[in-house]
Amino acid sequence: MRFPLKLNVDLTKYIFSNRMRKIEKFPLVLMLEPTHLCNLACSGCGRIREYAETLSEEMSLEDCLQSVDECPAPVVTITGGEPFLYTHIHELIAGVLARGKHIYLCTNGILLEEALDNMQPHPNFTINVHMDGLETTHDRILEQKGAFTTAISAIRKAKQLGFRLCTNTTIFKETDLKEIDELFTTLSIIGVDGFLVAPGFGYEAVGEKLFLERRDIERKFRDVFEMSKRHRFLSTPMYLRFLMGEKQLECTPWGNPTRNTQGWKAPCYLITDAHYPTFKEMMEKTAWEKYGVGKDERCAQCMMHCGFEPSVVREMGKDWRDMWEMIVWNLS
Ligand code: SF4
Ligand code: SF4
Repeated sequence: MRFPLKLNVDLTKYIFSNRMRKIEKFPLVLMLEPTHLCNLACSGCGRIREYAETLSEEMSLEDCLQSVDECPAPVVTITGGEPFLYTHIHELIAGVLARGKHIYLCTNGILLEEALDNMQPHPNFTINVHMDGLETTHDRILEQKGAFTTAISAIRKAKQLGFRLCTNTTIFKETDLKEIDELFTTLSIIGVDGFLVAPGFGYEAVGEKLFLERRDIERKFRDVFEMSKRHRFLSTPMYLRFLMGEKQLECTPWGNPTRNTQGWKAPCYLITDAHYPTFKEMMEKTAWEKYGVGKDERCAQCMMHCGFEPSVVREMGKDWRDMWEMIVWNLS
């Protein structure tokens, strides 16, 4: 099975219960950014640029756990910044797991090896390491020599200790897909449990030269789709078919709400028009109908997983072929 059984069961129960109660808009994954502080300055990073003025701020542990309680999403992605720079990271992990939620902890891997000494594997806990290529490419994008070797060493240790671990890879304009294929082969040999891929998106704060436009994404992801037949991808087949231009999806911006040091960020992980003090206010006050491709010019090139993977869930049940593809994929 591609995802742990408990995650499948918890997500299915949650989606079913929302549908039974006729709730149209509900979150699936809370993106929690306890700090934007980072030990790297990657070329494609929107976060450290957008929040440059407040980088050193961090959420209190109480605020983090209060946000987890406010937002009913069964999955919490702890991200940043670099989460291992957050003062209360281990207490936060313990607090989220104690609430029965699932965690994906996104890290650049630099501090992971040391942090593992204070962590224990848990069925609801997955480490997600940012890997953008083999050594030369990865170190160039992360702008730090040795970042690749450090991350690989930490990944080996995490797997030896029995942690569930996946990687996420951003596909940029210049990404060489043969190299990514080789990277995934190397990571599979180490025992990595799966791969997430997404196209790089041109954040307003970063500038455009690194990023793919819609037509380039579709071209490039036809090859990525072929690669998904050889490696254990965690990006869903429907999302990949959307990226290669075969499937139409409308964005679901409330699917992965973001909470950070400034509040609940609206309308989505990528663009910021407001920060609200509570999840409820963010859900009620955001004019959701104004966002998405064809509605807001900032959305024109966007095909990001945070907006469109939740749309895959919304599509489930509309066409039995999609449903069958997802079942077979998940069981394989
Ligand atoms: S590691 Fe992540 S948060 Fe840090 S600079 Fe790179 S992309 Fe941004
Ligand atoms: S299309 Fe992209 S940028 Fe626009 S609201 Fe959706 S996720 Fe955000």
